[in-house]
Amino acid sequence: MAFGRDRRERGVLFDIDGVLVTSWEPLPGGAETLAWVREQGVRRAFLTNTTSKTAAQIAQALGAAGLDVDVSEIVTAARLTGEYLRTRYGGRRVHVLTDGPEDDLGDGFETVDADPDVVVLGGAGPAFTHDALSRVFEFLLAGVPVVAMHRSMAWATAQGQRIDTGLYLEGLCRATGVTPTVIGKPSPVGFRTAADLMGLDPSAVVMVGDDVRADVLAGQVAGMRGVLVRTGKFRQAALDAVESDEFGLVPDYVVDGVGDLPGLLMRVWGLT
Ligand SMILES: [Mg+2]
Repeated sequence: MAFGRDRRERGVLFDIDGVLVTSWEPLPGGAETLAWVREQGVRRAFLTNTTSKTAAQIAQALGAAGLDVDVSEIVTAARLTGEYLRTRYGGRRVHVLTDGPEDDLGDGFETVDADPDVVVLGGAGPAFTHDALSRVFEFLLAGVPVVAMHRSMAWATAQGQRIDTGLYLEGLCRATGVTPTVIGKPSPVGFRTAADLMGLDPSAVVMVGDDVRADVLAGQVAGMRGVLVRTGKFRQAALDAVESDEFGLVPDYVVDGVGDLPGLLMRVWGLT
């Protein structure tokens, strides 16, 4: 049996955008499902690549949408990156370039503008100036490793598409020969660190997301069970396309929305 009898030895890891909210407006069934999971004594966490808000701001925004979430349950790419840095670069010199808040990185290392042991790239934005990127380029040329909070290429805004971290990362790495470590979804590093933060083995965790590749299949590759919801960015064509792709995987489960999760988990876990 992959799952312990104790319900506290099980967990649900939720993607946020497109599963629980869209533009911070609640999706149907989210509040009821979150309450049900908590009542069951099953552990919860919320995994997001968002770099523009801190975990505290995300918990507040979810609360305003009627979703009762504790800040300790929010696992941002910045928080995962902080965990990674403490493990691999504890006490070392870290150069951070991000347009987002650095609060979730925490401490346990020294942030510097010269002679770093590692470079961290967060969310892109106006802070990614020619000077700032050139400095990172010089560090990478000197052989300094780079850790990226995520490798998204772009995001959509009301004003149009905006270039994201992955686009810069590709060029920096191609020009310097450095292979980056990427932390956020779909990297297995982030999923495993999220399971660690829940105190669970990945096999005891169900990942729920609206992105068939970056949430669901990537979670399955990391050892979790995957549930795809037909909300948010879900497209039937994307689901159809995965059947013959490089993962060789299809989602473990597909449901119409997060409101269907209690019924599914009761069957999967044999809860009554
Ligand atoms: Mg999503």
